[in-house]
Amino acid sequence: MGMNRPKLCCHWTSMKSDVAERSSCVRPAIERGAILFGHSNLPGLPPVGTEAVTLPEIHGVISDLDGVVYRGDTPIDDAVTAILDWMEHGVRVAYVTNNSTGTSAHFAAKLGRMGIPTTAEDVVTSGEAAADFVRGRWPNGATVHVVGSDALRDTLRGVGCEVTTGEADAVVVGLDRDFHYDKLSKAADAIRAGAFLIGTNPDRMYPIPGGYIPGAGSILAAVAAAAGLDAPHVVVGKPEPTLVEIARWKLGTDAERTIMIGDQLETDVAAGRNAGLTTVLVKTGVLNHPDFGEAADFEVDSLADLHLGGS
Ligand SMILES: [Mg+2]
Repeated sequence: MGMNRPKLCCHWTSMKSDVAERSSCVRPAIERGAILFGHSNLPGLPPVGTEAVTLPEIHGVISDLDGVVYRGDTPIDDAVTAILDWMEHGVRVAYVTNNSTGTSAHFAAKLGRMGIPTTAEDVVTSGEAAADFVRGRWPNGATVHVVGSDALRDTLRGVGCEVTTGEADAVVVGLDRDFHYDKLSKAADAIRAGAFLIGTNPDRMYPIPGGYIPGAGSILAAVAAAAGLDAPHVVVGKPEPTLVEIARWKLGTDAERTIMIGDQLETDVAAGRNAGLTTVLVKTGVLNHPDFGEAADFEVDSLADLHLGGS
C-alpha cells in the first residue's frame, strides 16, 4: 500500500479479518446475491470461490480496456453490467489504454456499441498522452516524425503538431503494423539529427486470442537501437502514471476516492500505484507472471464481484 490510501472497508486478501466484521462490511453485496465465501464459510478455513470486494467510499474508477471491459471485439458481460451499476450509483468512470492505434473517439464509440455510454473525453489513449507531453514540452508547436498509426498522427495534429517523415523536434513511436526497414532508417536519422524519442508505451508484446503479436515497445526498441540510444528519452504509457493522472484530472475525483482497475500487474497495477491510487486486478484478461514481484491491493475474478459507491 502506498501513500494516500483510502480507509477501505476491508481487505479481502487478508485471512485475518473477523468473519462477522467482514460480513457487515459486505452486506450490500450479500443483498445483491453475491457469492461471498463459496462453500467454505467456516472459521479458520480460507474462503473458496469468488470473493466480493466492497469499496463504498470510491467515487471514481480508472479502468484499462482490453482484458477488463472487453476481449478484442467481444464485451465481457459482467464488466458491462458492473460498470453500468457503478455509474447508476454516481461513480464516475474513465478509461486508459496503451493502445495508440485508435483515437479516444474510436474507443468511446466501441464502448457505446457495447452498451456503456462513453464520450471521447472519458478515454485517454497513450497517443493522447504523447500529444500532451509534446504540447507541454513545445508549447509553441512542434514538428513530429511519427512511426505509428493514422490515429496517432491525427491525435498529434489535433494538438497543433506538424507531422513529418523527416527531421523533427520529436520522433513519436507507437504500434505500426506497416513498420519496415525504411521507416526504421528514417526515424533513426531524425533522432541522430537531434529529435527527442518518445514512445507511446513499452509493451513489447500485445495479447491476441491464441498468442501475441509484437507491440509498440518492440518497434520502439528497434528505433532506439538504430539511433544508437540505449533507451527512448521518454515513454508515456503505463506503467508510467501519465495516463492515469490525465484520466483522474478529467474525472475530478480525489486520489483517495479513485481506484485503478486492470488485468496486468506490470502495466495497469503499476501505473495505478505510481499515480498513488488503490489498485484492483481483475482476472478476465492476460495471465500474469506468477513471479511478478508486486500484487494489487485487491483481486477479483470478475467485475461482478466489485461493489463501488453503494452498488
Ligand atoms: Mg489489459
